[in-house]
Amino acid sequence: MPISPELDAFIRRMPKAEIHVHLEGSVRPRTVLDLAQKHGTPLQTYSEDYLSAFFTFRDFDHFIACYVAVCTTLRNPEDFERIVRELGEDCAAQNIRYIEVHFNPATNVRKRGLNFREMLDAMNAARRDVRDRLGVEMRWIADGVRDEGADHRSVARTVEWIVNLTPEDGVVALGLGGSEVGFPPELFVEEFAATRAAGIHVVAHAGETTGPQTIIDSLDLLGAERIGHGIRAIDDPALVARLAVAQIPLEVCPTSNVCTRVTPALGEHPFPLLDRAGVLVTVNSDDPPLFGTTLTDEFRVLAEHWGYGARDLQRIAGNAVRAAFLPEPERARLLQAFSASCDDLREELGLRV
Ligand SMILES: [Zn+2]
Repeated sequence: MPISPELDAFIRRMPKAEIHVHLEGSVRPRTVLDLAQKHGTPLQTYSEDYLSAFFTFRDFDHFIACYVAVCTTLRNPEDFERIVRELGEDCAAQNIRYIEVHFNPATNVRKRGLNFREMLDAMNAARRDVRDRLGVEMRWIADGVRDEGADHRSVARTVEWIVNLTPEDGVVALGLGGSEVGFPPELFVEEFAATRAAGIHVVAHAGETTGPQTIIDSLDLLGAERIGHGIRAIDDPALVARLAVAQIPLEVCPTSNVCTRVTPALGEHPFPLLDRAGVLVTVNSDDPPLFGTTLTDEFRVLAEHWGYGARDLQRIAGNAVRAAFLPEPERARLLQAFSASCDDLREELGLRV
Protein backbone atom coordinates (compact mmCIF):
# COMPACT_ATOMS: atom_id res chain seq x y z
CA MET A 1 0.00 0.00 0.00
CA PRO A 2 1.57 3.37 -1.00
CA ILE A 3 2.20 5.74 1.89
CA SER A 4 1.71 9.50 2.01
CA PRO A 5 4.67 11.82 1.31
CA GLU A 6 4.29 13.11 4.88
CA LEU A 7 4.61 9.65 6.41
CA ASP A 8 7.55 8.93 4.14
CA ALA A 9 9.22 12.14 5.31
CA PHE A 10 8.54 11.15 8.91
CA ILE A 11 10.19 7.75 8.35
CA ARG A 12 13.25 9.30 6.74
CA ARG A 13 13.71 11.98 9.38
CA MET A 14 12.63 10.26 12.59
CA PRO A 15 15.40 9.37 15.07
CA LYS A 16 16.19 5.67 14.95
CA ALA A 17 18.14 3.03 16.85
CA GLU A 18 19.23 -0.38 15.70
CA ILE A 19 20.32 -3.36 17.79
CA HIS A 20 20.83 -6.09 15.17
CA VAL A 21 23.19 -5.27 12.34
CA HIS A 22 26.40 -7.08 11.36
CA LEU A 23 29.53 -5.04 10.77
CA GLU A 24 30.86 -7.39 8.09
CA GLY A 25 27.41 -7.47 6.47
CA SER A 26 27.17 -3.66 6.35
CA VAL A 27 30.18 -2.92 4.19
CA ARG A 28 29.32 -0.71 1.24
CA PRO A 29 29.59 -2.63 -2.06
CA ARG A 30 31.99 0.00 -3.43
CA THR A 31 34.24 -0.48 -0.39
CA VAL A 32 34.23 -4.27 -0.77
CA LEU A 33 35.49 -3.85 -4.31
CA ASP A 34 38.09 -1.26 -3.24
CA LEU A 35 39.39 -3.52 -0.50
CA ALA A 36 39.41 -6.56 -2.78
CA GLN A 37 41.52 -4.60 -5.23
CA LYS A 38 43.81 -3.30 -2.50
CA HIS A 39 44.52 -6.79 -1.19
CA GLY A 40 44.33 -8.62 -4.52
CA THR A 41 41.49 -10.75 -3.16
CA PRO A 42 39.67 -12.80 -5.80
CA LEU A 43 35.93 -12.28 -5.45
CA GLN A 44 33.79 -15.00 -6.87
CA THR A 45 30.47 -14.19 -5.26
CA TYR A 46 30.75 -10.47 -4.86
CA SER A 47 30.92 -8.36 -7.98
CA GLU A 48 29.66 -4.92 -8.89
CA ASP A 49 26.33 -6.41 -9.88
CA TYR A 50 26.28 -8.81 -6.92
CA LEU A 51 23.00 -7.38 -5.73
CA SER A 52 21.03 -8.39 -8.80
CA ALA A 53 22.67 -11.82 -8.67
CA PHE A 54 21.81 -12.03 -5.01
CA PHE A 55 18.20 -11.28 -5.61
CA THR A 56 18.06 -13.97 -8.27
CA PHE A 57 19.34 -16.66 -5.93
CA ARG A 58 17.79 -15.83 -2.66
CA ASP A 59 18.32 -18.34 0.10
CA PHE A 60 20.23 -18.63 3.32
CA ASP A 61 23.22 -20.51 1.88
CA HIS A 62 23.72 -17.99 -0.88
CA PHE A 63 23.55 -15.21 1.66
CA ILE A 64 26.26 -16.92 3.75
CA ALA A 65 28.44 -17.23 0.61
CA CYS A 66 28.10 -13.46 -0.04
CA TYR A 67 28.84 -12.68 3.60
CA VAL A 68 31.96 -14.86 3.60
CA ALA A 69 33.13 -13.22 0.36
CA VAL A 70 32.88 -9.78 1.98
CA CYS A 71 34.83 -11.04 5.00
CA THR A 72 37.72 -12.19 2.81
CA THR A 73 38.35 -8.55 1.84
CA LEU A 74 38.83 -7.41 5.47
CA ARG A 75 42.52 -7.98 6.03
CA ASN A 76 43.94 -5.44 8.43
CA PRO A 77 42.94 -3.03 11.22
CA GLU A 78 42.70 -0.07 8.81
CA ASP A 79 40.02 -1.94 6.88
CA PHE A 80 37.98 -2.23 10.07
CA GLU A 81 38.51 1.44 10.86
CA ARG A 82 37.21 2.33 7.42
CA ILE A 83 34.12 0.13 7.50
CA VAL A 84 33.13 1.35 10.99
CA ARG A 85 33.55 4.97 9.91
CA GLU A 86 31.46 4.38 6.81
CA LEU A 87 28.81 2.53 8.79
CA GLY A 88 28.64 5.54 11.13
CA GLU A 89 28.20 7.85 8.15
CA ASP A 90 25.43 5.64 6.78
CA CYS A 91 23.76 5.79 10.21
CA ALA A 92 23.99 9.58 10.36
CA ALA A 93 22.39 9.83 6.90
CA GLN A 94 19.36 7.95 8.26
CA ASN A 95 19.24 9.73 11.63
CA ILE A 96 20.22 6.52 13.44
CA ARG A 97 21.40 7.85 16.80
CA TYR A 98 22.35 4.59 18.51
CA ILE A 99 23.45 1.26 17.11
CA GLU A 100 24.64 -2.06 18.53
CA VAL A 101 26.81 -3.75 15.93
CA HIS A 102 27.53 -7.47 15.78
CA PHE A 103 31.02 -8.41 14.66
CA ASN A 104 32.76 -11.67 14.25
CA PRO A 105 36.20 -11.58 15.87
CA ALA A 106 37.01 -15.30 15.91
CA THR A 107 36.61 -15.73 12.16
CA ASN A 108 38.57 -12.58 11.37
CA VAL A 109 41.41 -13.67 13.64
CA ARG A 110 41.48 -17.33 12.63
CA LYS A 111 41.00 -17.00 8.90
CA ARG A 112 42.85 -13.77 8.18
CA GLY A 113 45.36 -13.58 10.99
CA LEU A 114 44.05 -10.34 12.46
CA ASN A 115 44.96 -9.51 16.04
CA PHE A 116 41.85 -9.08 18.20
CA ARG A 117 43.25 -6.14 20.19
CA GLU A 118 44.42 -4.28 17.08
CA MET A 119 41.13 -4.89 15.29
CA LEU A 120 39.11 -3.63 18.27
CA ASP A 121 41.37 -0.58 18.73
CA ALA A 122 40.87 0.34 15.08
CA MET A 123 37.11 -0.10 15.38
CA ASN A 124 37.09 2.06 18.50
CA ALA A 125 39.12 4.82 16.85
CA ALA A 126 36.40 5.01 14.19
CA ARG A 127 33.67 4.71 16.84
CA ARG A 128 35.01 7.77 18.66
CA ASP A 129 35.31 9.68 15.40
CA VAL A 130 31.72 8.83 14.47
CA ARG A 131 30.46 9.87 17.91
CA ASP A 132 32.38 13.16 17.96
CA ARG A 133 31.80 14.13 14.36
CA LEU A 134 28.29 12.79 13.72
CA GLY A 135 26.73 12.19 17.13
CA VAL A 136 26.13 8.49 16.41
CA GLU A 137 26.67 6.20 19.43
CA MET A 138 27.93 2.68 18.69
CA ARG A 139 28.39 -0.41 20.85
CA TRP A 140 29.75 -3.83 19.89
CA ILE A 141 28.31 -7.32 20.20
CA ALA A 142 31.04 -9.94 19.74
CA ASP A 143 29.52 -12.91 17.97
CA GLY A 144 30.74 -16.44 18.41
CA VAL A 145 30.04 -18.48 15.31
CA ARG A 146 28.62 -21.98 15.11
CA ASP A 147 29.30 -23.34 11.66
CA GLU A 148 30.56 -26.48 10.08
CA GLY A 149 33.69 -24.71 8.87
CA ALA A 150 34.29 -22.75 12.07
CA ASP A 151 36.63 -24.08 14.63
CA HIS A 152 34.42 -25.37 17.45
CA ARG A 153 36.22 -23.17 19.95
CA SER A 154 35.06 -19.99 18.19
CA VAL A 155 32.60 -19.15 20.94
CA ALA A 156 35.02 -20.02 23.77
CA ARG A 157 37.77 -17.92 22.24
CA THR A 158 35.42 -14.96 21.80
CA VAL A 159 34.51 -15.20 25.47
CA GLU A 160 38.20 -15.26 26.49
CA TRP A 161 38.75 -12.03 24.57
CA ILE A 162 35.78 -10.09 25.85
CA VAL A 163 35.64 -10.94 29.55
CA ASN A 164 38.67 -8.80 30.36
CA LEU A 165 37.78 -5.70 28.37
CA THR A 166 36.97 -2.31 29.90
CA PRO A 167 33.77 -0.31 29.26
CA GLU A 168 35.83 2.00 26.99
CA ASP A 169 36.23 -0.94 24.61
CA GLY A 170 32.51 -0.71 23.85
CA VAL A 171 31.75 -4.45 23.82
CA VAL A 172 28.42 -4.81 25.60
CA ALA A 173 27.44 -8.37 24.77
CA LEU A 174 28.31 -11.82 23.51
CA GLY A 175 26.23 -13.02 20.57
CA LEU A 176 25.76 -16.36 18.90
CA GLY A 177 25.65 -16.33 15.11
CA GLY A 178 26.11 -18.71 12.21
CA SER A 179 24.02 -21.75 11.54
CA GLU A 180 21.27 -22.63 14.01
CA VAL A 181 20.77 -25.96 12.29
CA GLY A 182 22.95 -28.67 13.84
CA PHE A 183 24.37 -26.37 16.53
CA PRO A 184 21.80 -26.18 19.35
CA PRO A 185 22.22 -23.77 22.29
CA GLU A 186 23.08 -26.63 24.68
CA LEU A 187 26.56 -26.79 23.09
CA PHE A 188 27.39 -23.32 24.41
CA VAL A 189 26.06 -23.37 27.97
CA GLU A 190 29.47 -23.01 29.65
CA GLU A 191 30.65 -20.13 27.48
CA PHE A 192 27.46 -18.18 28.05
CA ALA A 193 27.56 -18.81 31.80
CA ALA A 194 31.15 -17.52 31.96
CA THR A 195 30.15 -14.40 30.03
CA ARG A 196 27.19 -13.68 32.28
CA ALA A 197 29.40 -14.22 35.34
CA ALA A 198 31.72 -11.52 33.98
CA GLY A 199 28.79 -9.09 33.89
CA ILE A 200 28.51 -9.03 30.10
CA HIS A 201 25.15 -9.22 28.36
CA VAL A 202 24.26 -12.21 26.19
CA VAL A 203 22.10 -12.52 23.07
CA ALA A 204 21.60 -15.28 20.51
CA HIS A 205 20.26 -15.70 17.01
CA ALA A 206 17.40 -18.18 17.39
CA GLY A 207 14.10 -19.01 15.75
CA GLU A 208 15.25 -17.68 12.38
CA THR A 209 16.01 -20.91 10.51
CA THR A 210 14.81 -23.28 13.25
CA GLY A 211 11.64 -23.49 15.33
CA PRO A 212 10.53 -22.13 18.72
CA GLN A 213 12.47 -24.72 20.75
CA THR A 214 15.76 -22.99 19.87
CA ILE A 215 14.36 -19.76 21.30
CA ILE A 216 13.24 -21.52 24.48
CA ASP A 217 16.66 -23.18 24.85
CA SER A 218 18.47 -19.90 24.21
CA LEU A 219 16.49 -18.33 27.04
CA ASP A 220 16.67 -21.25 29.47
CA LEU A 221 20.13 -22.68 28.77
CA LEU A 222 22.08 -19.61 27.66
CA GLY A 223 20.23 -16.90 29.60
CA ALA A 224 19.81 -14.89 26.38
CA GLU A 225 18.43 -11.44 27.20
CA ARG A 226 17.31 -10.76 23.64
CA ILE A 227 16.66 -13.01 20.68
CA GLY A 228 18.05 -12.31 17.21
CA HIS A 229 15.12 -12.75 14.81
CA GLY A 230 12.98 -15.06 16.96
CA ILE A 231 10.11 -14.91 14.49
CA ARG A 232 9.34 -18.64 14.73
CA ALA A 233 8.09 -17.92 18.25
CA ILE A 234 4.81 -17.35 16.43
CA ASP A 235 4.43 -21.14 16.10
CA ASP A 236 4.22 -21.54 19.89
CA PRO A 237 1.49 -19.47 21.62
CA ALA A 238 2.88 -20.26 25.09
CA LEU A 239 6.26 -18.89 24.05
CA VAL A 240 4.68 -15.74 22.60
CA ALA A 241 2.91 -15.23 25.93
CA ARG A 242 6.18 -15.77 27.82
CA LEU A 243 8.07 -13.27 25.64
CA ALA A 244 5.29 -10.73 26.09
CA VAL A 245 5.04 -11.10 29.88
CA ALA A 246 8.81 -10.99 30.41
CA GLN A 247 9.23 -8.29 27.73
CA ILE A 248 12.10 -10.21 26.14
CA PRO A 249 13.01 -8.23 23.04
CA LEU A 250 13.02 -9.77 19.58
CA GLU A 251 15.44 -8.25 17.06
CA VAL A 252 13.32 -8.66 13.95
CA CYS A 253 14.80 -8.12 10.48
CA PRO A 254 11.87 -8.27 8.01
CA THR A 255 13.61 -7.89 4.63
CA SER A 256 16.39 -10.26 5.68
CA ASN A 257 13.77 -12.91 6.50
CA VAL A 258 12.24 -12.66 3.03
CA CYS A 259 15.64 -12.61 1.26
CA THR A 260 16.83 -15.73 3.06
CA ARG A 261 13.38 -17.28 2.56
CA VAL A 262 12.75 -18.00 6.21
CA THR A 263 9.41 -16.31 5.57
CA PRO A 264 7.74 -16.44 2.13
CA ALA A 265 6.69 -12.80 1.83
CA LEU A 266 6.35 -9.62 3.87
CA GLY A 267 2.57 -10.07 3.79
CA GLU A 268 3.01 -13.31 5.74
CA HIS A 269 5.68 -12.05 8.13
CA PRO A 270 4.70 -12.52 11.80
CA PHE A 271 5.97 -9.11 12.97
CA PRO A 272 2.52 -7.47 13.26
CA LEU A 273 1.08 -10.50 15.08
CA LEU A 274 3.97 -10.58 17.57
CA ASP A 275 3.59 -6.85 18.12
CA ARG A 276 -0.15 -7.14 18.68
CA ALA A 277 0.47 -9.98 21.15
CA GLY A 278 2.50 -7.56 23.28
CA VAL A 279 5.99 -8.82 22.43
CA LEU A 280 8.71 -6.15 22.56
CA VAL A 281 9.55 -6.22 18.85
CA THR A 282 12.31 -4.12 17.32
CA VAL A 283 13.01 -3.58 13.63
CA ASN A 284 16.50 -4.04 12.22
CA SER A 285 18.37 -4.27 8.92
CA ASP A 286 20.71 -7.25 9.71
CA ASP A 287 23.06 -6.98 6.67
CA PRO A 288 21.71 -3.95 4.80
CA PRO A 289 23.60 -3.91 1.46
CA LEU A 290 23.45 -7.70 1.15
CA PHE A 291 19.68 -7.54 1.43
CA GLY A 292 19.36 -4.33 -0.56
CA THR A 293 17.86 -2.54 2.42
CA THR A 294 18.47 0.14 5.05
CA LEU A 295 16.93 0.67 8.48
CA THR A 296 14.84 3.45 6.92
CA ASP A 297 13.55 0.93 4.35
CA GLU A 298 12.67 -1.48 7.16
CA PHE A 299 10.52 1.19 8.82
CA ARG A 300 8.94 1.79 5.42
CA VAL A 301 8.03 -1.92 5.33
CA LEU A 302 6.07 -1.45 8.56
CA ALA A 303 4.10 1.42 7.03
CA GLU A 304 3.64 0.03 3.51
CA HIS A 305 2.95 -3.61 4.26
CA TRP A 306 1.45 -3.59 7.72
CA GLY A 307 -0.25 -0.21 7.89
CA TYR A 308 1.79 1.30 10.72
CA GLY A 309 1.27 5.04 11.24
CA ALA A 310 3.69 7.59 12.67
CA ARG A 311 2.76 6.99 16.32
CA ASP A 312 3.29 3.23 16.01
CA LEU A 313 6.57 3.74 14.15
CA GLN A 314 7.66 6.05 16.95
CA ARG A 315 6.78 3.34 19.49
CA ILE A 316 8.72 0.68 17.55
CA ALA A 317 11.78 2.97 17.24
CA GLY A 318 11.54 3.47 21.01
CA ASN A 319 11.49 -0.30 21.52
CA ALA A 320 15.07 -0.53 20.23
CA VAL A 321 16.12 1.97 22.89
CA ARG A 322 14.13 0.06 25.54
CA ALA A 323 15.92 -3.15 24.46
CA ALA A 324 19.39 -1.57 24.16
CA PHE A 325 22.25 -2.47 26.50
CA LEU A 326 22.48 1.04 27.85
CA PRO A 327 22.82 2.26 31.42
CA GLU A 328 19.42 3.50 32.66
CA PRO A 329 20.16 7.24 32.69
CA GLU A 330 21.39 7.09 29.09
CA ARG A 331 18.38 5.04 28.04
CA ALA A 332 15.99 7.52 29.64
CA ARG A 333 17.77 10.45 27.99
CA LEU A 334 17.66 8.81 24.57
CA LEU A 335 13.99 7.82 24.89
CA GLN A 336 13.13 11.36 25.90
CA ALA A 337 15.06 12.78 22.94
CA PHE A 338 13.35 10.34 20.53
CA SER A 339 9.95 11.16 21.85
CA ALA A 340 10.44 14.95 21.74
CA SER A 341 11.87 14.83 18.24
CA CYS A 342 9.12 12.53 16.91
CA ASP A 343 6.40 14.69 18.47
CA ASP A 344 7.87 17.78 16.78
CA LEU A 345 8.12 15.98 13.45
CA ARG A 346 4.54 14.73 13.57
CA GLU A 347 3.36 18.24 14.40
CA GLU A 348 5.39 19.74 11.54
CA LEU A 349 4.15 17.14 9.05
CA GLY A 350 0.55 17.17 10.30
CA LEU A 351 0.55 13.46 11.21
CA ARG A 352 -2.01 12.74 13.92
CA VAL A 353 -1.73 8.97 14.06
ZN1 LIG B 1 21.95 -11.49 12.27
